[in-house]
Amino acid sequence: MATGFYKTDKTTNEPVLSYAPGSPERKELKKALETLNNQFVEVPLYIDGNEIYTGKTSEMHPPHDHQKVLGVFHQADKEHVHQAIDAALKAREKWAAMPWQERVAIFRKAADLLSGPYRAKMNAATMIGQSKTVFQAEIDGVAELADFWRFNTEYIQRIYKEQPDSTKETWNRLEYRPLEGFIYAITPFNFTSIAGNLPTSPAMVGNTVVWKPSRTQMYSAKVIMEILQEAGLPDGVINMISGNSAMITDIILDHPEFAGIHFTGSTGVFNSFWEKIGKNINKYKSYPRIVGETGGKDFVWMHESADPQAVATALARGAFEYQGQKCSAASRAYIPQNKWNQVFEALKNQVDTMKIGSPENFENFITAVIDEKAFDKLAGYIDRAKADQDTEVIIGGNYDKSKGYFIEPTVILTSNPKYITMEEELFGPILTVYVYPEKEWKESLELVDNTSPYGLTGAIFAKDRYIIDYATKKLENAAGNFYINDKPTGAVVNQQPFGGARGSGTNDKAGSMWNLIRWMSVRSIKENYNPPTDYRYPFMEKETEESLKKEIEA
Ligand code: NAD
Repeated sequence: MATGFYKTDKTTNEPVLSYAPGSPERKELKKALETLNNQFVEVPLYIDGNEIYTGKTSEMHPPHDHQKVLGVFHQADKEHVHQAIDAALKAREKWAAMPWQERVAIFRKAADLLSGPYRAKMNAATMIGQSKTVFQAEIDGVAELADFWRFNTEYIQRIYKEQPDSTKETWNRLEYRPLEGFIYAITPFNFTSIAGNLPTSPAMVGNTVVWKPSRTQMYSAKVIMEILQEAGLPDGVINMISGNSAMITDIILDHPEFAGIHFTGSTGVFNSFWEKIGKNINKYKSYPRIVGETGGKDFVWMHESADPQAVATALARGAFEYQGQKCSAASRAYIPQNKWNQVFEALKNQVDTMKIGSPENFENFITAVIDEKAFDKLAGYIDRAKADQDTEVIIGGNYDKSKGYFIEPTVILTSNPKYITMEEELFGPILTVYVYPEKEWKESLELVDNTSPYGLTGAIFAKDRYIIDYATKKLENAAGNFYINDKPTGAVVNQQPFGGARGSGTNDKAGSMWNLIRWMSVRSIKENYNPPTDYRYPFMEKETEESLKKEIEA
């Protein structure tokens, strides 16, 4: 029972450590990498607090060294999926009734474990399992995930404090109930932080969850579960299962108590879920909440008043960090003709210095793409650009999968602003540039707005303030995260709430108040201190001579 209006410590963003040579964090990380490299990890299912080793396994390999076996993850069959749903439903009553401050304490503790004793292990797992450089692992699996866990606990308090007016006779209250049923969280490979945030944000407000991570993120997914368990998350609140994703999803979306989906991944997959939910709509107890953050085709637009060096740097980082496998990665650029030579030179100079290889060699900036399917798809786009008439591969363009799935940072120049790689999400280290006549900057903004079906992130570069104002208005719906004179990647929790509309998702801004509200169902409570005891109102009373006289006088 709450006996006070409790307040947590003022939350600040988790500092990003440098891992510079000689730093203590670098030493610790090297130790963690060695430990993980020398062990065989088994990732079980986590159902109702139990670790389940089904015996039906899939191997895990580092993308930068695909012959090496890191371990295996166990796969669920249909029965396990039903068990996970049952465990979530069983845990719901007690968890939903738990006072908010008890729930909050678990996730704040989890953030401290992550940024403290688990920091090196989480970074090592993300580096080896998803092929991230140490910086990319640190900003994702540690800093962003700790921020999600801490800031969400603050947002909850802000929401709970939002209460209606009352009168002398009545007390009006809003009760922020969790949804009735269970939530399905289904997460992508590219961010450990998203994997950790999607199941926990609904749980934090009292929901119970079945979570299915991506098969190429299982290594760090296990670390997330270890931390949550150590932080004291009760059994059954988050049940992690893996295996055939279509089978798992079909069972879950068919369940009458399915109350909502928290998804991040590609647009086509999300659309297929929405369709299934639509078909099953008469089966559900409540209308499910559908929250999905999906693909992007993120732009960088330059005006001739902008600094070419700054644009080139934004492209180098925005397009190629984590091999372009960020939903926010810059993948199409619009550069004015009279500045193109300068931008190209500066970009080429930077890309030429990028080293490619394993993330365990800290000098490398580019590591491997996630798997063979992604590699083959990306190599196909590069080959096509080499052969097509209206394109030229002007930087990079080589690839090699003999040891790891390595693709050079590649820049395609196109004379066709609607070329396929200007429109489709590739999700790799490939940037396509369209050079426009500088006087036609308004027309080029039209192209930015209309070329792709997505609306996730985008950046404009200009010094002229009238141009900045014009472009900001013109591109109002082109990006949910809009950057002025900055790269379109690297959103920070509590600073730039993240998400986009159009084909990029429901724009519920993961890691924000607006997202958490989606996992609540508000109950309005009105209490009357002095309830009426007769149904009749005064206007119904019989008229008398005296009342008529009063009326005339009035
Ligand atoms: P994905 O769509 O392939 O997979 C996402 C999840 O869905 C995984 O758990 C996967 O196993 C599951 N899945 C895939 N196909 C399925 C099916 N047919 N039935 C049921 N489940 C299925 O995405 P990914 O390759 O892991 O991640 C990259 C995508 O995610 C990109 O499109 C990227 O833009 C997007 N993304 C978006 C954001 C954002 O905030 N908008 C953030 C990160 C990633």
